[in-house]
This record gives sequence, structure tokens and C-alpha cells, in this order.
Amino acid sequence: MTFVVLDRVTKRFGKVLAVDNVSLSIEKGEFVVLLGPSGCGKTTTLRMIAGLEIPTSGRIYIDGRDVTYLEPGERDVAMVFQDYAIYPHMTVFENIAFPLEIRRRKLRLTKRDIEEKVLQVAKMLQIDHLLDRKASQLSGGQQQRVALARALVREPKVWLMDEPLSNLDALIRLQVRAELKRLQKDLGITTIYVTHDQVEALTLADRIAVMNAGRVVQFGTPKEIYDAPTHVFVGTFVGNPPMNILKCKPAGDVLECPGFTIKNPGVKQTVFFGIRPEYIEWSDKEQPGYIKGLVYVVEPIGSEYLINVKIADVLLKIKTLREVSLKPGDSIYFKFDMKKAVLFDEETGNVVI
Ligand code: ATP
Repeated sequence: MTFVVLDRVTKRFGKVLAVDNVSLSIEKGEFVVLLGPSGCGKTTTLRMIAGLEIPTSGRIYIDGRDVTYLEPGERDVAMVFQDYAIYPHMTVFENIAFPLEIRRRKLRLTKRDIEEKVLQVAKMLQIDHLLDRKASQLSGGQQQRVALARALVREPKVWLMDEPLSNLDALIRLQVRAELKRLQKDLGITTIYVTHDQVEALTLADRIAVMNAGRVVQFGTPKEIYDAPTHVFVGTFVGNPPMNILKCKPAGDVLECPGFTIKNPGVKQTVFFGIRPEYIEWSDKEQPGYIKGLVYVVEPIGSEYLINVKIADVLLKIKTLREVSLKPGDSIYFKFDMKKAVLFDEETGNVVI
């Protein structure tokens, strides 16, 4: 069931086109992440859903109701934003309990119910030992978790979150990320989450909307976004390291790429050949059908290795779990997993095969 709809939403700030004709249909209970580089329009999109900005054109619907011009308070959404505003003079407990206190009658909550809910969410975010502390006496990361707790303590129609984990230490961030995903799945609250961190997007989302320059470039599951990017931008923005992108020109039956050729599947224009670093087989010995390159440098990354290979005048990255004892200047032989390769149009960036 479609629950949140953005229908051709555009937002201009004077001459700046912040959001450009964005349409999205989000299902009830879905966790959707808006992912993209700084300035691509993620926050503005979220603020329009929240009611903090009015679209220049287009419509926004929540649960079948046109909310485009409604006040934030009339939309039944809970938000947590990067510049988390908590009440400094209140305790942590009072801050988290606040959204429940103001709805106490409507939700028919007893004092005990509120205490239980606050404690539950505070435990989840590892701030239960701070409940009596004044919010002003907390670290940035603790304050951010209080803001998150305040959003999570009630069950609105939609949770809206803008980089809610950005100020947390690496370890706590991982723990809170997992807790957040679990809670969202348990309660089934439709969630729209903004981040520029692709790992956060891939781990949390049911579907990711990749944005660039005010537009949604691709909207799909993490697997679709990772394995089947429909635009070169998605291939190069998602993945660590990103997709290898090599420019190839058609020449009869083949595509001429830097240092090698591949079968031309029928394209007539110059294309970008895209292949993820982990979808390249390699060997230190010559093999039939393998392409020869020279090792530029090898980077160990924990349990994996990243081999930088020079072919013609370009560098290719190969990611492997196998132990690598190659040195710079050594010959290396490699083969692409062509089932995982993608071709993008050089001019439009759109996928062609
Ligand atoms: P970040 O990750 O850096 O927060 P973002 O993807 O969330 O970036 P937005 O904050 O939505 O991007 O901004 C999109 C564009 O709109 C940017 O060019 C930004 O400078 C511009 N913009 C946003 N808010 C305003 C405003 N109130 N007035 C003028 N321009 C704005």
C-alpha cells in the first residue's frame, strides 16, 4: 500500500533549483533512504515532507491525504534533524517524555506508561544512565541520541530522519544503527532517512533513492542499486571503492577499451564500461582469456586486498579476499565477470545494456 507520495515536487530558492521534479511512492512500513552528495537536495526533500518547506510546485501525500500545505504539527510525523534541537533546561527524561506528555490524554497514557516507554528507548540508545541529567550537560553525541529518542518514543505515521547518527562515535553508531533498524521493523513505521553515507544507506534501507543535482537518479533496493546501477552516477557514488569506469569505443564487433577489447553487444556510441572491483578474477600467472596488466600498488584493507592495476593509461581496482604477494611492477592477469558488467552511455550516463 502506497503511504507517502511525492508527485513531481520541485523547490526553488531564488535561482537555486534545490529539488527538481521529484516523484517517489513509498510503501507503508518501508524504510527509504535518500542518498546523495552534499547539496543534492536530500534535506530540502525531507523538510518538504515534514512541512518545514512548501514546494514551489508538486504535491505531497501521506496516508492518502494531501499534506502539501499543512503545518508540520498537522501531519503526524516525528522528525530528527542534524541540528537536533533539544530543550537544554529539561532533563534527558523530560526531553524524551515531552512528545508523549503533550499527547497524554489523546493516547490515554498513564505516568507509568510514559516512564516505561522512555526507559525502553533510552536503553536502546544507551542513554538510560543519563535520564536525570540536564540536557545541556551532555556531549554532542549524547544530545543527538536524546533527539533521536524523542522521535522514536512515539509511533507517528512517518519517521523523518536527517543524518541522525552523524555525531556518534564509530562503535556506538554501529550499535544504534542496528537498534534503529530492528525497532523500525518491529513497529513497522514508515521511515524516510537522509544520509550521504552509502554504508548507512545499504545497511538500513528497504529501498534507496539516489539523488544528484536535485533529482532522483535511481530508486531501488540496495541490491539493485549496487548490482544494477541504471546511471553511471550511481555506480561511482555507491561502493567502496566505487565501480571501475572505463571509456570504450565501438569498432565493428568489439568495443575498444584501454588495453583490451570486449565483444560489442550492439552499441553504436562511445560507452563507459562499468565493473565493480570485486567482480574481477585475477591470477599471477598467464591464463587463457585473461588480460595482462601491471601491478601499480597493493593496499591491504583488513580481511581484503585492493590491487591497483595499470592497463594502458588507466588504473583499475581489483578487490580480493585472497592473499596477495604481488609487488609494484609485477605482471597480473585478470578477467571480468561479464554478467556483472554494465555499459553506460557516455553522454547521458544512462545504462545501455
Ligand atoms: P547536505 O548533505 O550538505 O545537507 P543536501 O543534499 O541535504 O546537502 P540541501 O540542503 O537540500 O542538500 O540543499 C540543496 C540545494 O539548495 C543546495 O544548493 C543548497 O545550497 C540550497 N538551499 C537549501 N536551503 C536553502 C535556503 N534556505 N536558501 C537558499 N538555498 C538553499
